[in-house]
Amino acid sequence: MGTVPREKFVDPGFEEYAYEDAPLSIGDGQTISQPFIVALMIEKADLDADDKVLEVGTGSGYASALISHIAMYVYSIERHERLALQARERFEKLGYGNIDVRVGDGSKGWAEAAPFDAIIVSAGAPEVPGALKEQLGPGGRLIIPVGCSDAQRLKRITRTAAATFEEEDLGGVVFVPLIGEDAWTAAHPMYTATAPRKNK
Ligand code: SAH
Repeated sequence: MGTVPREKFVDPGFEEYAYEDAPLSIGDGQTISQPFIVALMIEKADLDADDKVLEVGTGSGYASALISHIAMYVYSIERHERLALQARERFEKLGYGNIDVRVGDGSKGWAEAAPFDAIIVSAGAPEVPGALKEQLGPGGRLIIPVGCSDAQRLKRITRTAAATFEEEDLGGVVFVPLIGEDAWTAAHPMYTATAPRKNK
């Protein structure tokens, strides 16, 4: 974490807060995640040097930059075009050559690049999107905040066999909502799950 300059990932004027352990606004109602939570997610993803990783919710690009130092390649998907383009520019400027950024709905994953050794979702989902589980390779780990739009539980889902998944609870977190076809609808401020929620 010491090698990624977080001040280069925040908006102009916020540089002096870049090393506080707090989320910061990056515009479009979105935030760069709190460093502690990003570290926790990456640690729990149990990354190896030859891993192919998907990050859903590129935002500023900070988490993808961190992941790119540990894993082999990062596919990063962001629904806000402005944020995606800005992150892509940052990666170019800072010399990150192993991150591919795409504008799109990450609740559907990134099928063309699957399977992934790990998937890290940086926005809160009402349910675990099926496509993300399906795009995990054997032994793959999915780290995802799941719950209501203002508070979630961080989950780790591990693909233990072709059709078997193990789920662990990693604690309480607060993320901005994952908005997409297999997540929340964009109707703000009362987010509504796009699919009926089961057992909740
Ligand atoms: N990892 C980011 C944190 C960004 S906050 C960082 O380090 O800065 C979460 C991001 O998820 C927001 O930018 C939001 O626009 C994005 N997002 C929400 N729903 C999404 C979806 N369905 N697909 C892709 N990105 C999504």
